[in-house]
Amino acid sequence: MTDLNWVEISREALKSNISEFRRIIGPDKILCPCVKANAYGHGLVESSRVYLDAGADWLGVNALYEARTLREAGIDAPIYILGYVGLEELREAVELDCRMVVYNRATIAKLAECDGKPRVHIKIETGNNRQGVLKGELVDFAKYILSFGNIELEGLNTHFANIEDTTDHSYAELQLKRFLEADQILKDEGIEVPIKHCANSAATILFPKTHFDMVRVGIAAYGMWPSSETYVSSLEEGTKGFKLTPAFTWKSKIAQIRTIPAGEYIGYGCTYKTSHETKMAIIPVGYYDGYDRGVSGSGAYVLIRGERAPLRGRVCMNIIMVEVTDIPEASLEDEVVLMGGSGDEVISAELFADWAGTINYEVTTRVNERIPRIVN
Ligand SMILES: *Cc1c(COP(=O)(O)O)cnc(C)c1O
Repeated sequence: MTDLNWVEISREALKSNISEFRRIIGPDKILCPCVKANAYGHGLVESSRVYLDAGADWLGVNALYEARTLREAGIDAPIYILGYVGLEELREAVELDCRMVVYNRATIAKLAECDGKPRVHIKIETGNNRQGVLKGELVDFAKYILSFGNIELEGLNTHFANIEDTTDHSYAELQLKRFLEADQILKDEGIEVPIKHCANSAATILFPKTHFDMVRVGIAAYGMWPSSETYVSSLEEGTKGFKLTPAFTWKSKIAQIRTIPAGEYIGYGCTYKTSHETKMAIIPVGYYDGYDRGVSGSGAYVLIRGERAPLRGRVCMNIIMVEVTDIPEASLEDEVVLMGGSGDEVISAELFADWAGTINYEVTTRVNERIPRIVN
């Protein structure tokens, strides 16, 4: 490994998570892992290949450029674009044979001009209030789509606003009720949409009744729980015994070792002062790489030879400093685990997120795309 900073992705872990989802949704539903945000930091093309190999059916991306990258890599599985596709991008999206979420008439009018058969999924507004068609506008919108013979109304979907942040699922129930109402409104007009979907990871794990025809699983496909609330809820209801295996290990190497006398300051802002003679290791990773500056002073550590080496001073742009006084064998170019396991120790994405004051979703997605992802 020539890079000083790389991410190892466990193929077995990704496959095991897909198998777990397949087990709970059954063989006939469409399993659509979300690979947006560079596959939550796990490598877009790399993770997509593993997922398809493991039996995933579709891939969910946020934007056209991700779909293009997958097609250029020779991946011909169905791709569903979850995010907004610009009016000028629609032609290419259809050429790349992507399905997409729709909620604007302007999008439909443009799709009507495209060659081929655009396939669209109407987003129903049920309470997230980001995107989505309101109940009162639904029938007209669906009829507008169907008025163009070339567009296929393939899907009906919505997205939960408050399912992983709580163990009280009444808001999710309300959204589900509104989703079912929307479906009924269309049925009453004689419009039957074949693929209905609303479940993200938390919904898929907790509520089998949200599975419908397809599940869009993100975070949990990478082996991370959507939240501790989801984990707790899963022990009480839903799909008990559901097992997730994290796949992400971020590594670097020691770039220098120095001994610093007692009473010296470490790094920018002089936020840390040595209280004793200190053996310090310099690691070539920083906030540019996605090692969150917010972990400075939080008690954060890295793992060297399976031992904790505490972060000292602030995270710099390209460097962090860690204390290895208690790891006397630590030496130049030793492997360093920034996130993931080493020996008996694990720095989970959740622990790192606690240090940084954010969520697991953010810490893996923020690891710079330039850093190689190695599937092993
Ligand atoms: C990202 C996303 C998901 C996946 O959510 P997770 O909580 O990561 O499982 C599902 N649906 C939509 C619309 C999304 O944008």
